[in-house]
Amino acid sequence: MKEKQDVDDIVHQKFDYVIENGNVIDPKSHLRTIANIGIKGDKIGIVTRENLLSDIKIDAKNKIVCPGFIDPHCHIDGYLYNAQCYVKMGVTTAITGNCGFGPYPIKAFLDKIDSRGFPINHGTLIGHSFDLRKMVGLGNSTMAPTENEIAKMVEIAQESLEEGALGISLGLEYAPGSTQKEIYALARLAAKYDKVMPVHSRSDGWGSLAALQEIVSIQQETGVRVLISHLTYQNGMGMMKESLSIIEKAYEQGFEIYADSGAYHAFATFIGSEVFCKGWREKYQCQYEDVMVSSGQHMGKRLNEALFHELVENDPKTLCTAFVGCPHEVVEALQQPYVMVSSDGAVGSHQPGTGHPQDAGTYPKVFRKFVRQMNALTMMEAVAKCTIIPAKFFKLENKGWIGTGADADIVVFDPNSITDTSDYAGMGIPDASPEGIEWVFVNGCPVVKNSELDENAMPGRAVRQKNKIWRV
Ligand SMILES: [Zn+2]
Repeated sequence: MKEKQDVDDIVHQKFDYVIENGNVIDPKSHLRTIANIGIKGDKIGIVTRENLLSDIKIDAKNKIVCPGFIDPHCHIDGYLYNAQCYVKMGVTTAITGNCGFGPYPIKAFLDKIDSRGFPINHGTLIGHSFDLRKMVGLGNSTMAPTENEIAKMVEIAQESLEEGALGISLGLEYAPGSTQKEIYALARLAAKYDKVMPVHSRSDGWGSLAALQEIVSIQQETGVRVLISHLTYQNGMGMMKESLSIIEKAYEQGFEIYADSGAYHAFATFIGSEVFCKGWREKYQCQYEDVMVSSGQHMGKRLNEALFHELVENDPKTLCTAFVGCPHEVVEALQQPYVMVSSDGAVGSHQPGTGHPQDAGTYPKVFRKFVRQMNALTMMEAVAKCTIIPAKFFKLENKGWIGTGADADIVVFDPNSITDTSDYAGMGIPDASPEGIEWVFVNGCPVVKNSELDENAMPGRAVRQKNKIWRV
């Protein structure tokens, strides 16, 4: 009786927004059903089939209504323009500071998100391979640190985790001098508080198998929960099957290891980085022409020998996209139950019109191509990979699910028309807005309304985690 009264009370309340008759998907309970959702403040007040009261009702008939997407791996770094592109593709929470670089100091970064406001929720990692190493005076990426420098890195990382960083990210490919001692010291620190360690591996291409094994060993030797970063960009050059079997072997031994992976087979990074160091064409078995300039005055041009040397010497921060991956391995990776969707987007592209199509197309592409056109993922699987799987990994307890008390981070999209329209510079517009994503709520506030971005809506919050000693 008591419960019935409670439900009656809730049903007769007035809600701030009601999303009616949608095809509601809750990946936490694997529920897909027709229902109405009442939003009150920043939370979901109720999910029911009863009529709900509100001045603002959204008709979601034939639309998917699911939790907002959580991007576990991007490089937004607090840039408003990127966040606006992300919310248009349904992302309501994005985690930055990946690949060993990102915002610092952590407290100032997170405080600014809260005081200035932001379109989406934004959390960060503390980056090791560029940031911590530079802070302790390691000027050269091939140098190994001294004991003293390792101790200093641990000290700064400890402070950053205390200030709310969600973990420590490694970009080992960019800092080949990183030693096991250095990595394990940081991994043990993160493990102490059960914070996470996303790792961009030491090598892509043919070196990627040994590099993947190194990541698995970090978890097995220190207990830290690792996240293999952009699996396809590292291991999707013809060695995906072997790579997956390394991860599966860990599962057979009882270790749970996760990876994030995107929707594209051509990765983007800075031309001056270690990725394009001596021998890169042999490593990728490719030509200069397989690499496209994605920012700056030469944007849209294919590389040639002269342009390559000119950019490396004069403009090493130029973003380049390398068409060196296997398209079918993108799908193979995403089909694994331990792989979540990530964009790896916004690296070095914080201005309109630049960058990689992943910056504006990753999530709609997953639903357009891999769900609707290829039938490679079910709708439920795809939603889970974009929501509850990353939420659980990062311990975002109120996110990634639909139900009473969950954060009102919600996406409403048309499964028959959701489409990415962004394309590589030189072939199309890298940050063109997707279609078919009609409403995006962040903390109960619509940032995308009727497919239009509200540029003034800043309901996003900093995502912080304090240090708590891990115990079972
Ligand atoms: Zn990376």
